[in-house]
Amino acid sequence: MAQLTIQNLRKCFASTTAVDSVNLHVEDGELICLLGPSGSGKSTILRMIGGFEHPTSGAILIDGQDVTRLPPERRPTGMMFQSHALWSHMTVFGNIAFGLKLRRLPKAEIREKVESALELVGLGGYGTRMTSQLSGGQQQRVALARSLVLEPKILLLDEPFASLDQHLRERLREEVRDIQQRLGITTLFVTHGQDEALAMADRIAVLRDGRIEQIAPADVIYRQP
Ligand code: ADP
Ligand code: ADP
Repeated sequence: MAQLTIQNLRKCFASTTAVDSVNLHVEDGELICLLGPSGSGKSTILRMIGGFEHPTSGAILIDGQDVTRLPPERRPTGMMFQSHALWSHMTVFGNIAFGLKLRRLPKAEIREKVESALELVGLGGYGTRMTSQLSGGQQQRVALARSLVLEPKILLLDEPFASLDQHLRERLREEVRDIQQRLGITTLFVTHGQDEALAMADRIAVLRDGRIEQIAPADVIYRQP
């Protein structure tokens, strides 16, 4: 459980201001959707929280600790990308164990953590499969397990279902929401789909041109004309 605070966050690329003075506070265990059209700055915000992009100015605090200058591997965040494919030359186990092996955890502990991450996403026993043998939905579940296995305080999901068909998207949406609530993990979820935001979010932050235009519980935003 953790709180996330973003203060005056800005990111400028050569001639574009991708993110412009964003302030945001996410409560313990809350799921906030960043909703907005393509190019509104959603991904850039998420990548800055994960440490994959350096802010031009501003600060990112997790449980009051300033993480703005820490590299990704030293942040208590787990990020799942839309397009960040799994390593297809490795087994499911190998994909999920990778980060744990880098941390030199004992083998027995790695095995235990990987197995429970797989159970969590409904893929118990799939460790020895090659990821290329899995369906699209199963691959996304593995990617989710990979981002959860290091037990991050903050989960960052960047359009994780964008490549899936409607039916699967709706199912995974419910699964992820269920897992998120069971773990009580503070989560930021990027999407450009209103229905997806409505189905998942405690609160929705509506992004436009790099700014938060509005932030409110889903039902409040959708009650408006
Ligand atoms: P979204 O996730 O809402 O689609 P992005 O955060 O990807 O928006 O992009 C916000 C703006 O920043 C866009 O105008 C985009 O073109 C620009 N941008 C994003 N990444 C880069 C980059 N690496 N170099 C230059 N411009 C970028
Ligand atoms: P190494 O460090 O050489 O990868 P491991 O003992 O970590 O050795 O794993 C060897 C292989 O056994 C892995 O690549 C994986 O495919 C399989 N494996 C190990 N533990 C499990 C497990 N709990 N579930 C499924 N497969 C496993």
